[in-house]
Formats: sequence, structure tokens, C-alpha cells
Amino acid sequence: MKFIDAEIVEIKELIHNTNSFLLRLEDGKHFSYQAGQFVMLRVDIVGEEVKRAYSIASPPPRDMKHAEYIELIIKHVPGGKMTDHLFSLKEGAHIEAAGPYGRFILREPIKEGDIFMATGSGIAPFMSMLRKVFRDHNPKEFYLFFGVRNMEEIIYADELFQWDRQHENFHLIICLSQPEKGWDGEVGYVQDTLTDHIDSFENKQAYLCGIPIMVEQSRQRLIELGMKPENVYQEQF
Ligand SMILES: Cc1cc2nc3c(=O)[nH]c(=O)nc-3n(C[C@H](O)[C@H](O)[C@H](O)COP(=O)(O)OP(=O)(O)OC[C@H]3O[C@@H](n4cnc5c(N)ncnc54)[C@H](O)[C@@H]3O)c2cc1C
Repeated sequence: MKFIDAEIVEIKELIHNTNSFLLRLEDGKHFSYQAGQFVMLRVDIVGEEVKRAYSIASPPPRDMKHAEYIELIIKHVPGGKMTDHLFSLKEGAHIEAAGPYGRFILREPIKEGDIFMATGSGIAPFMSMLRKVFRDHNPKEFYLFFGVRNMEEIIYADELFQWDRQHENFHLIICLSQPEKGWDGEVGYVQDTLTDHIDSFENKQAYLCGIPIMVEQSRQRLIELGMKPENVYQEQF
């Protein structure tokens, strides 16, 4: 694994426990990644080397001018070695990154009825995939199911709702497990909402990313509903 230096050039709080970190890779370096892949971050914490994987949330760059930047969406796990450290850093700090890695990648061009399904920070690889899909003006109909606790926890709500308003072929299904009063969308576990929105699952494909229980239950459900196991792609964290 070859690590390179990266400066954290921007930190944005997206929701109360989740930040966007924009990294600029050291001069002249870039990662040639596909939407959905991850990088490995490495830090030294009092003499201990700590390495963790993070999905890239930015779309693969269109040109070399933007190739030195990558965005990560990271949830703070209190007591967690890497995230305690990352959340103590300020803009201008340096860390090390290696990559890209992973086979959880967008299969292009996307197919009619493609399903993307996330919980929490599992939205990160889908931000990369969907930003690319919208940039490429894809005309196919596709779905993003996103499960979070309440409205405050919808990461990148503005961007997601804007896509939903602007693109008739995009269907955004937000499912809240502990909704605020007045919420009139889906309630419960996101994996239980699939059949309310899609009639047929045969010959479709799905991408699942998030907590293990959602990923496992969704996979099982999709296969029972007729999806081929090899058409269900997953990443869990
Ligand atoms: C391929 C891949 C991609 C990933 N992409 C992302 C990403 O884009 N964004 C992101 O935020 N994370 C992502 N992760 C998870 C990330 O790698 C770390 O596991 C996470 O940030 C916790 O690291 P830590 O060192 O802070 O906690 P650790 O010191 O590893 O763990 C501390 C404690 O918290 C528990 N724990 C670990 N993770 C969580 C969690 N998510 N929620 C609750 N408890 C937890 C552990 O079981 C342990 O008990 C990804 C993981 C993989 C494998």
C-alpha cells in the first residue's frame, strides 16, 4: 500500500455527527478511481499506526484540473481511534491516503430500474455514483432508498431533494425510523419499503451500502423478490 500525503483543505459539518472532509493530494498526485471505490487513510496516534477505509464521495474527476481533490463523508464514532482523531483536526492538517480500492463500483451505463440503497454514512459511495450519473445526463429511471433516524440525519438533504425535484427519472425514497411529527414519508426500516415503490425486481440490479443488518436483510429480500444474487452489489460499514 503506497500512502501519499494529503492536506485537509475543507471540513464541513453535514449533520451533527458527520463531516465532509475535502482532501488535496500532494503536488502532482491523484487517484484514478471509479465511482464507489474507497481510500485507506493512515495516521500515527501516539506511535500506533491506525488505518481505516473511507468511500470516496466525490465523482471521478472529468479532467486533471480537479483530479487532486477527493471528498470523504465521515461519521464520528465516539471512542473510535481514527474518527476521534479526524474530528480533532482543523483545516490545513495533513494525513496520509492510499488507493483507490474496492470492487463496489457503479456499472455503467446504469440500467432501467437500478436500485441504490443506503443507511447513514453508507450514502458516501452513492454520492460519488449519483453525482456522476447526473453529470452524465442519464435518462434511465432509478431509485435511491435512504434510511436514517430522522430528518436531521439526512446527509446532503439539499442535494438529494434538488435532484428529486429536477429529475423525473430519479425516485428518492427517504425512510425515517424515528420520524419527527408531521413527516408524511416512509417510516420504519428502509428495506421494508421496497415493494411499495417497485413492482418487479427480475432483471434489475441493486447496490446496498450501510449497516450490516440493512445490507443483509435487503439482499435476502431482493433475492426472494426475484433479483439474481449476482446482481446485488454490497458494501457494509
Ligand atoms: C470499504 C469501507 C468503506 C468505508 N467507508 C466509510 C465512509 O465513507 N464513512 C464512514 O464514516 N465510515 C466508513 N467506513 C468505516 C470506517 O472504516 C471505520 O470503521 C469507522 O470510521 C470507525 O473507525 P474508528 O477508528 O473511529 O473506530 P474504531 O476504533 O475502529 O471502533 C471503535 C468502536 O466503535 C465501533 N464502531 C465502528 N464503526 C462504527 C460505526 N460506523 N457505528 C457505530 N459503531 C462503530 C467498533 O465496533 C468499536 O467498538 C468504511 C469501512 C469500509 C470497510
